[in-house]
Amino acid sequence: MTEQPSARLQQARRARRATSDPEALISAARAGDARALARLVTLVEDESAALPSVMRVIAPLTGHAQIIGLTGSPGVGKSTVTAALVRCFRAQGLRVGVLAVDPSSPFSGGALLGDRIRMQDHATDDQVFIRSMASRGHLGGLSWATPQALRILDAAGFDMIMIETVGVGQAEVEIASLADSSLVVVAPGLGDSIQAAKAGILEIADVFIVNKSDRPGTQEVIRDLRTMLAMASYGRGAWKPPIIATTAPSGEGIGDLAAAISKHGGWLADTGTLGDRRRARAREEISAIALTELRQRIGDLPGESRLEELAARVAAGQLDPYAAADELISG
Ligand code: GDP
Repeated sequence: MTEQPSARLQQARRARRATSDPEALISAARAGDARALARLVTLVEDESAALPSVMRVIAPLTGHAQIIGLTGSPGVGKSTVTAALVRCFRAQGLRVGVLAVDPSSPFSGGALLGDRIRMQDHATDDQVFIRSMASRGHLGGLSWATPQALRILDAAGFDMIMIETVGVGQAEVEIASLADSSLVVVAPGLGDSIQAAKAGILEIADVFIVNKSDRPGTQEVIRDLRTMLAMASYGRGAWKPPIIATTAPSGEGIGDLAAAISKHGGWLADTGTLGDRRRARAREEISAIALTELRQRIGDLPGESRLEELAARVAAGQLDPYAAADELISG
């Protein structure tokens, strides 16, 4: 009986030690201290017990940034487009955050991606924060961690936050759905437009980028996309995704891309879609946290948990599985 509060107290003490003071870290991050911001993101990666108090402090500070998701197969030029867009946003005087996320390999892929972007430039610009996200994956993995990292960047006062993900698959679609504006990057010569359609990425695209437009086959990719878009039906006032051709290394088309992103931001706000998307995002976030809590309460460790004990009783025919599930959730 006495063990519970003291364990909780210990956990709180550990959390305090780990962060010093969340409020101090947050005000430092808002003032542009990249190290404080990096520490806050690390709290998410470490699934720190201090996170709930961090989230409480930052809740009223969020909602300012436009969150831009960037997806596409490896090699289409996402990192190069990201770097070019960052340059363009910086020229407009905007503060930019970039989160690089690899849902398929949370341990190493994310770090590699981030390093690649970092190498390109912006390393010395304190108005640009670039971070790759890894997740220990104990809790909900990156779908648990990414929205919380986004919140932190938003509260830190960035105008634009870009999430870059690799691979084409369900996890990628989920991460992209965290964004206000989703950009899908394809390139000629890789069969990407077809791949994108297969993976259901067409539905999430707000802007199509045909990168490597200096390469042969660009017009065919644009034509394929146009055909696919023509087959979709758009209601009155609906957003019809534009197709922007870019050559990221030279910056060609990047100005048009930034203009399309800005236009989409305006459309989101004018139509109330922004609120819908943010509520949908919050729903996902709440569910992810609640399910994680529930999973922890149930106890995922075989042999040590309440679940094991109930499983033994159900297996022995002493209890039915519904009653056991009730006991697990309520207990
Ligand atoms: P990612 O894997 O999608 O992030 O792709 P990267 O940004 O790493 O780019 C993959 C390769 O394509 C790199 O060698 C880039 O220099 C090159 N690349 C990127 N954009 C273009 C482009 O517009 N034209 C050409 N020709 N090459 C590009």
